Amino acid sequence: MSQVARNLEEVEKRIAAAARRASRDPAMVKLVAVSKTVDQGRIKEAWHAGQHIFGENYLQEAKAKIAALGPGPAWHFIGHLQSNKAKAAVELFGLIHGVDRLKLAQALEKAAAQMGKVQEILIQVNLAGEESKSGTSPEAAAGLLQEIGQLPHLRVKGLMTMPPFLDPEEVRPYFRALRELRDRLEQLDLGKLPELSMGMSGDYEVAVEEGATLVRVGTAIFGRR
Ligand SMILES: *Cc1c(COP(=O)(O)O)cnc(C)c1O
Repeated sequence: MSQVARNLEEVEKRIAAAARRASRDPAMVKLVAVSKTVDQGRIKEAWHAGQHIFGENYLQEAKAKIAALGPGPAWHFIGHLQSNKAKAAVELFGLIHGVDRLKLAQALEKAAAQMGKVQEILIQVNLAGEESKSGTSPEAAAGLLQEIGQLPHLRVKGLMTMPPFLDPEEVRPYFRALRELRDRLEQLDLGKLPELSMGMSGDYEVAVEEGATLVRVGTAIFGRR
């Protein structure tokens, strides 16, 4: 068994244990293997070991990998997306995690309409108001959700966050806050928001305990970048 396969097994085991601690069904948590800067060979190793979803941050890099791996894996865009790159993102990705402003949503809508695709997206929320991170404020999330709801070629599947870089137990309140924000937004009757994309290598177990349905894990699978 390769190191990547062993790491995947360990991460999946920890996800399942964290889900059970929170009385959640482990099958409700999907692992997004973050493969930015990882070469195609090791991505193939992960794919052959049964990993289905890969997360990429950079469009050019992703394009080459997606072409090389062929149909099969699901690809998620987890990076910061500029509006002028919307078309490429819609062409390449099944789910775009980081939509945080109307201008970007409108650009994605236009690209998806041209392709005859309904693009699934997550709204990124900046819970701590960090200058260095993208994301809508929690207060603006409802308004953004409502406006995106008018765009027929976008489907909002849920929320995503990148909390401050802290110890796992210190980020727990942010994960909980994202879940609670999701619960409040669902009460507005703008549609279900089943997905919560939160948790990375250092804190994915806490994120799962707090309700994550998508964890974005790179280093714990592929090693240090
Ligand atoms: C790189 C990245 C990750 C993965 O980080 P690790 O600490 O390597 O697990 C997750 N989410 C986003 C948005 C990233 O850019």
